Amino acid sequence: MKNNSLKEIVRAFRKYDNYILSTHISPDGDGIGSELALGFGLKKLGKKVTIANSDPFPANYEFLPCDGMLKNREEIKGSYDVAVSLECPGLDRVGKMKKVFLKSGRIINLDHHMSNEFFGDYNYVDDGSAAVGEQVFDILFELGVKLDLNIATCLYTSLLTDTGSFSYSNTTRRTHEIVIELMKYGVNPSEVNQNVYEVSSLGKIQLLGRAINSLCIDERYGIAWTVLAKKDFEDTGTNYSDSEGIINYARSIKGVNIAISFTEIHGERVKISFRSKRNEIDVNKIALFFAGGGHKRASGALQKGTVNEVKEKVLKKTIEVIKSVSAGFKLKPVLGACGTLTKKKR
Ligand code: 5GP
Repeated sequence: MKNNSLKEIVRAFRKYDNYILSTHISPDGDGIGSELALGFGLKKLGKKVTIANSDPFPANYEFLPCDGMLKNREEIKGSYDVAVSLECPGLDRVGKMKKVFLKSGRIINLDHHMSNEFFGDYNYVDDGSAAVGEQVFDILFELGVKLDLNIATCLYTSLLTDTGSFSYSNTTRRTHEIVIELMKYGVNPSEVNQNVYEVSSLGKIQLLGRAINSLCIDERYGIAWTVLAKKDFEDTGTNYSDSEGIINYARSIKGVNIAISFTEIHGERVKISFRSKRNEIDVNKIALFFAGGGHKRASGALQKGTVNEVKEKVLKKTIEVIKSVSAGFKLKPVLGACGTLTKKKR
């Protein structure tokens, strides 16, 4: 299936009336912000919009407006003209919403992952967009939707979170231009930032402590990784969404090329997240090897097995990938204050 142009996508949105919108399992700020913004925009055009996801919003996104559009997955009955997936490289990523998608008249796939499988009847995939929120901004503009504070706040949240507060390499001039537009509608960056990032529970900070304690480093190849077990979540009264962002601590260590987090989740499965600090190292390739996907600098996968089994396989593959590209840069051992951490075996 092919990628459609913005004009073709906009034509499709004009044509159909009854929509269901979903983002990926374990939804994040981009998935949530972009689906809400699109929902508000379509409603302004007189369309019927329902939003339902496989998993609930993490608490730090509950401040976002949703004007009755958001329903529990269990409440979804009947069929829809169009099911729109936001930020899902494959249809499996909508999780338990997949059945609803397959029953709908057609699927529109909006995504910015290079690993997208073009599973929609309409696909608008742009890996040059920092966030799907940028694509939704363009769609709403082309549809002639006048933005307002609700839409602008949702889009701002999407851009803020997927660019690591406008710090990752995906942040472009275009990202900032969109932010300028959004601020014209009254978005307050400091307020959004506080709502998203400064509402941690004590348990979340304790979980962070456990992750930091688990930190290990492969000095030679510059790989830093953390491990969170089910027990860590149980003891701190937290859930998977509370581990969002923890990988950035491993990534922030000087000399680290790749940061990885291993998180035990239910059903004997391990969620793996990868972050690359070097343009030469494409972690999407590593994630694809483990049936996951994502971007060059940020990707993820899910594997069955114990943490130790998964960790062993993943570290082996990661070293292989680093070796294969390391002719392009000088491998420098990670030394200094964190050197002691490397002695720890976990
Ligand atoms: P995170 O590590 O924050 O969960 O995800 C980083 C990036 O990789 C995101 O763009 C996310 O959509 C993608 N990603 C994470 N896990 C998976 C996965 O299991 N499969 C695929 N295809 N992409 C994933």
